[in-house]
Amino acid sequence: EAQAKEHEEKIIRLCTRKGGPKGLMIAEHLTDEKDYENTTKRPRLVILGSGWGAISLIKGLDKKKYHVTIVSPQNYFLFTPLLPSATVGTLEPRSLLEPVRSIIKGVDAHYVEAKATDVVFDEKLVEVTPGDDPNASFYIPYDKLVIAVGSESITHGIEGIEYCHTLKSINDARLIRKKIMDNFEKATLPTTSPEERKRLLSFVVCGGGPTGVEFAAELYDFLTEDLVKYFPNVLRNEVQVSIIQSSDHILNTYDEKISNFAEKKFNREHINVITNARVQKVESDHLVYKMKNEQDTKNLDYGLCLWSTGIAMNPLTKTISNKLPEQQNKRALVTDSRLRLKGIKDSSVYAIGDCSTIENPNLVQGLMKFFSDADLDKNGQLSYDEFALLATKIARKYPLTGIHLKRAHELFDRYDVDKSGTLELNELRSMFEEIDKKFTSLPATAQVANQQGKYLGKKLNQIVIAAETSILPSSRDYSEDSDSNCPDTDDKLAPFEYAHLGSMAYIGNAAVADFGMGWTWMGGLSAVYLWRSVYFSEQVSLRTRVLLASDWTKRSLFGRDISKF
Ligand code: FAD
Repeated sequence: EAQAKEHEEKIIRLCTRKGGPKGLMIAEHLTDEKDYENTTKRPRLVILGSGWGAISLIKGLDKKKYHVTIVSPQNYFLFTPLLPSATVGTLEPRSLLEPVRSIIKGVDAHYVEAKATDVVFDEKLVEVTPGDDPNASFYIPYDKLVIAVGSESITHGIEGIEYCHTLKSINDARLIRKKIMDNFEKATLPTTSPEERKRLLSFVVCGGGPTGVEFAAELYDFLTEDLVKYFPNVLRNEVQVSIIQSSDHILNTYDEKISNFAEKKFNREHINVITNARVQKVESDHLVYKMKNEQDTKNLDYGLCLWSTGIAMNPLTKTISNKLPEQQNKRALVTDSRLRLKGIKDSSVYAIGDCSTIENPNLVQGLMKFFSDADLDKNGQLSYDEFALLATKIARKYPLTGIHLKRAHELFDRYDVDKSGTLELNELRSMFEEIDKKFTSLPATAQVANQQGKYLGKKLNQIVIAAETSILPSSRDYSEDSDSNCPDTDDKLAPFEYAHLGSMAYIGNAAVADFGMGWTWMGGLSAVYLWRSVYFSEQVSLRTRVLLASDWTKRSLFGRDISKF
């Protein structure tokens, strides 16, 4: 009894104190006495999430500068770009995962397997819940908090969405793989009617973005390379793969050449691409959709339906957005150009990756600064040649604005209202305002999350260096560009700038790459090897590299594993 009491006292002294806002325990620290001593000297950095943003941040962090705690319900990092390959067994699930504990080994951080359920900003406490039991919740205090909790699939309020699969997690991939095999096995039972067989072998993808397209491509490879061998009594033309896309092209965020290339390829392969169609309702065995400009609805039977039409806020981001007036009615957590959460005054909370969006009120002003440089003859107007010079500069600084030389002529003509062959300042301003409205938010990609994580890791190191030495690590003071009213060290450091390195997609024994500014690459095996080598080089560990190489080799020697488990 005495021992138990002593243990409890030690826990309370070292690890917890009672009485957070909801009476929950506060985990002051999570490890041993020696570490507790060190902790009190280092600022407490709490990172929510173990995905792209969080992991790239941790990798760049100087372990001596912070006491780091990572909170995530997933005790691994998932390499999402290769997730479609795990739905058909091209890659095994474990090859896409790296345990958080192995990643943080070198950083001397702590990992808590729990979900963050709330943040009490006034007291700098994160409420976390291990498992699903709210009674087990406790608080973790922070000095700096990074929210990198990703997103959920958007449902658009469509009725019956629960019948669809989504593809966000490794478990989703596992369930899809099992369902495909289930359907094939059921379809070949002697008791299955021809109608039911047709339905079971009908695979529908809602959403023609990269995830939907890559899944359809992987499924097609699986059908033609493996399933036809193992199910000789299923004819290829009995299996139907369909993609329903609301706009007029699949891969519509890529260059048009790429969309056309993918559509033609899918057409040759009899993948049914239905564009300009919106799903109205999903039933357990069919979905109802409507073509643009048509009144009547159509039905499409399915044996498996994948819902992949974009992303939405997850429960934590919704909770945070509801409690801060600056965050109300937004689609993601809004940050300033330094990735600080809007509505928090003291630079203590950051949001990165899919759960966040950068508000950049200075874009129009930023673009207008270029004007005086480009106006070579300083007559307050831009000729086309001057505008082309401006377009090149903007493309370099703001790659997502969509301005590039190829589009410059088109834009110039559209905005030259009086058709005088020169752009006046007010014409240019309205062009920039339109661009600002369209392009201020960055795409929800691993590339963005990764760059934001790297930027924040480096910056958090710099903030501690500045506090210790009163010297700013960067040679330039950026306070002038800051969007904050009460500047601190963070404002003196450079804002986040995204560098778009291009987008890639696998489209079935072929791959496409869009490097922006009209540069594209589309091809067969050579492009597939480029696609693979890019992802191979981006792996977080040697272990996953070895696993990937072994899966690809295994697949080419023996085909995909069709066991159902
Ligand atoms: P995530 O990587 O999703 O990580 C979120 C983390 O937060 C997870 O660890 C999760 O467990 C954790 N979490 C969730 N809720 C909580 C909570 N309440 N408390 C604590 N932790 C929580 N992007 C590309 O650039 N290229 C591609 O080819 C590409 N392909 C993709 C393919 C698929 C199938 C998918 C689903 C996405 C793809 N993406 C791709 C997008 C990319 O995966 C995301 O943009 C990226 O993962 C975002 O990183 P993140 O850190 O914001 O979120």
